Amino acid sequence: MSSADNVMDKLVSLAKRRGFVFQSSEIYGGLGSVWDYGPLGVELKKNIKERWWRSMVHAREDIEGLDAAILMHPKVWEASGHIAGFTDPLVDCKHCKNRFRADDPRIKGTPGQPDAQCPVCGTKGSLTAPRQFNLMFKTFMGPVEEQAAVIFLRPETAQGIYVNYLNVLQSSRQKIPFGIAQIGKAFRNEITPGNFTFRTREFEQMEMQFFVKPGTDGEWFERWRDERMRWLVELGIRPEKLRFHQHTPQELAHYAKEAYDIEYEFPFGWHEFEGIHNRSDFDLSRHQQFSGKKLDYLDAGTNERYLPYVIETSAGADRTALVVLCDAYAEEEVAGEKRVVLRFQPSLAPLKAAVFPLVNKDGMPELARRLYDGLRRHFNVFYDDGGSIGRRYRRQDEAGTPFGITVDGQSTQDQTVTVRDRDTLKQDRVAADRLVDYLVQKLAG
Ligand SMILES: [Zn+2]
Repeated sequence: MSSADNVMDKLVSLAKRRGFVFQSSEIYGGLGSVWDYGPLGVELKKNIKERWWRSMVHAREDIEGLDAAILMHPKVWEASGHIAGFTDPLVDCKHCKNRFRADDPRIKGTPGQPDAQCPVCGTKGSLTAPRQFNLMFKTFMGPVEEQAAVIFLRPETAQGIYVNYLNVLQSSRQKIPFGIAQIGKAFRNEITPGNFTFRTREFEQMEMQFFVKPGTDGEWFERWRDERMRWLVELGIRPEKLRFHQHTPQELAHYAKEAYDIEYEFPFGWHEFEGIHNRSDFDLSRHQQFSGKKLDYLDAGTNERYLPYVIETSAGADRTALVVLCDAYAEEEVAGEKRVVLRFQPSLAPLKAAVFPLVNKDGMPELARRLYDGLRRHFNVFYDDGGSIGRRYRRQDEAGTPFGITVDGQSTQDQTVTVRDRDTLKQDRVAADRLVDYLVQKLAG
């Protein structure tokens, strides 16, 4: 086993043990590459999404928020090119019924020919010639499964923004340049998903489409590219683990004029988790053509009419959460003992603090409970009175909780507690009635 597998195995096992991520429908054997976020995972992902929303929507006067429905008119996907072009060439094994990408490196020989061998069951000549397979999930709207009612689960959130761009522009009284941001689920029937939550069939996107005057798109593209990298570094991701990858002309999607990926060095290698794309006026011109509705913008200042260009920043919420998890994971020796710790930036940590009575007697549990009840109104905190204090600290290290608050013998005398810092392991003695202020200050830093 390579060390990369080893780190991922440990991370997957910690994620389950501590309640970050569970396999979907596990008691039924699981559903392929679908994952559920547990009590700590949902907090981590929510903190990332809220951070994104604050910086993209609340902190800017030129971006508005949107929450479009997952189900859209089927013509949207004709206009976007997803019906015709969102396909992968796939081959089927007629013997074991498994399906593979035509370029799966495990296939020996040429699919469709007698020499080709199925990588799962080993049968020769059982693989079909490659066929185009659409990656959109299809479903039926209304009570009758008839062709007229076929609709799709959206494969990206972007189209909900394009078809609403005039509604948002007019209702918010924005002017170009301006953007629309959205966080939501999207679905792709990936044939080779994997690497834990990295490639999944159901995923959440954090997308922003920025509408600009043609000719200014190059400049805005560069601004957004730099802005998104800066945001990730502010999230506490180690800069040496982040890099840009510029798409070559062969890699560019059909809608893109220019594109950069932001990649992270995962234990399984460098992979993309966010993209910045210059989509030109491709999407708006296609929707104008397919809907028959005018989508151009009238500049009231100059009386010019034009179809805006779009700069897109598209991040995976699940992938960003996986980046944060991988980047926070550390194993180290403390006083001759091994500890596993998640060094989340405190603002992203699922739990901000845990409260421990040193022993369950002498008035310590009562004081610890009272402090916990007070803190709970301000932060997501945890109460733990089980096992040795060392065991309790280590459980919170694995959860990435930045502060451990211990009520000891001295506390019941002078109303002070110790606060242990997850990273430095230093302990401060803090007055119980100052705890909220103390944590507010530490969490902001
Ligand atoms: Zn087979």
